[in-house]
Amino acid sequence: MTRDDRGVTPQGEDFSAWYNELVTKAQLVDRGPAKGTMVIRPYGYRLWELLQSELDRRIKDTGHDNAYFPLLIPESYLSREAEHVEGFSPELAVVTHAGGKELEEPLIVRPTSETVVGEMMAKWISSHRDLPLLLNQWANVVRWELRPRMFLRTTEFLWQEGHTAHADEADAMRETMLALDMYTEVARDIAAIPVVPGEKTPGERFAGAKGTFTIEGMMRDGKALQAGTSHYMGTNFAKAFDIRYTSAAGRLELCHTTSWGMSTRMIGGVIMTHGDDKGLVLPPRLAPYQVVIVPIGRGEQGARTSEAARELAGRLRSAGVRAHVDDRDQLSPGFRFNDWELRGVPIRLELGPRELETGSALMARRLGEEGKQAITLADAPRLLPGILDDFQDFLLRRATEFRDAHTTVTDSWDAFATAVASGWALASHCGDPACEADIKAKTAATPRCVPLDGPPATSTCVHCDGGAAYGKRVIFGRAY
Ligand code: AMP
Repeated sequence: MTRDDRGVTPQGEDFSAWYNELVTKAQLVDRGPAKGTMVIRPYGYRLWELLQSELDRRIKDTGHDNAYFPLLIPESYLSREAEHVEGFSPELAVVTHAGGKELEEPLIVRPTSETVVGEMMAKWISSHRDLPLLLNQWANVVRWELRPRMFLRTTEFLWQEGHTAHADEADAMRETMLALDMYTEVARDIAAIPVVPGEKTPGERFAGAKGTFTIEGMMRDGKALQAGTSHYMGTNFAKAFDIRYTSAAGRLELCHTTSWGMSTRMIGGVIMTHGDDKGLVLPPRLAPYQVVIVPIGRGEQGARTSEAARELAGRLRSAGVRAHVDDRDQLSPGFRFNDWELRGVPIRLELGPRELETGSALMARRLGEEGKQAITLADAPRLLPGILDDFQDFLLRRATEFRDAHTTVTDSWDAFATAVASGWALASHCGDPACEADIKAKTAATPRCVPLDGPPATSTCVHCDGGAAYGKRVIFGRAY
């Protein structure tokens, strides 16, 4: 098999080409007709659905209700919050004509929904008894991205956006951190990405926010990926949209609001955290198929192994395992094995006439370190859930070790520059945007976050003579 048909460019040769080839060859996506858009194919969409259901469950368990707001937002809404409109203007898609006529007021295709949600919150909230108001919506949004990449940065993407209103700062901050905790947990426990939760530096804040919190993951090329964000808006949007409540003491007060989002970018994060030169490596909790059974043999024998494979798949499904039978007997076994390796299936079971005779199958794990092992068909439904859990744990451990091995705590500029060429530097920084820009110009690295749980800063900035800000070290790295 050559690279031209099923294989992909090795990561070490060109990580970007590896990624771009893999997302299409693994049948996750196809290019959409309009620039920067993507068609999510069933295999990719199933991955998204699995992530979505894990996150949705946590969102509901913490007291939020799903709702749906319109795709089109009057242009005047965005202008009401000055920083918000300034931040989003370059990325907006605007509808000026509809029904064959020019519209009196252009409509924005939502890049995010703070404004329309804010308008409704003002209508729905009157008393402290209406608070907190905890909403979430699953939707598509549009941002006119200049450098689109499948999943990572598309002009239309799918996400959830949480929007909440609270009586005071303390309650809104609790919510901001609760959303960040949910993201950290889903990334770590479901996607096996050991993200670092932290606060964005002021230059990287969301347009209109008082504080932006993020989870940052390290990809296998050492770059960072912002995989979810949670914003404390203070009373900025409450002022712009008149979101007020009457307190228990009878005073009219402004609400404090939050918003938080996680998108289809997470799928790109999964690909770049775990994938290798053979293709995707999917964590079992997100894998559309956790186990693929490949029956082998032609004619009479093929019919018998296919029958046994289907019977086994049925028993695996009853045991809660997502199992699939690949009985495309026009394709050679080797081709099918490679195909499922490319598509990242955690466990493959090969079922040939010889195995069938002994009542077993040959099991190959996606990373293949242990080689193939026989597993008895009778025991498979009992054993596989544990084997899948072990594989999930292994991926998280491997990604954590990789991240730690590529993170350098440093106070020296030379070591900083070396560290960010292949990973992250944890360094003290003055917080001056001009100094951040200088560092970016020299090394391409930007401040990713001030980790919540990170080491303390020294007294001076790693790059200039300024004093260190934030009290803690900042993660710097090149980023997607
Ligand atoms: P934001 O509303 O800007 O805080 O974005 C929320 C989350 O959506 C970010 O943390 C990203 O993970 C994701 N995101 C932002 N822009 C895009 C994009 N163009 N494509 C995919 N995901 C995105």
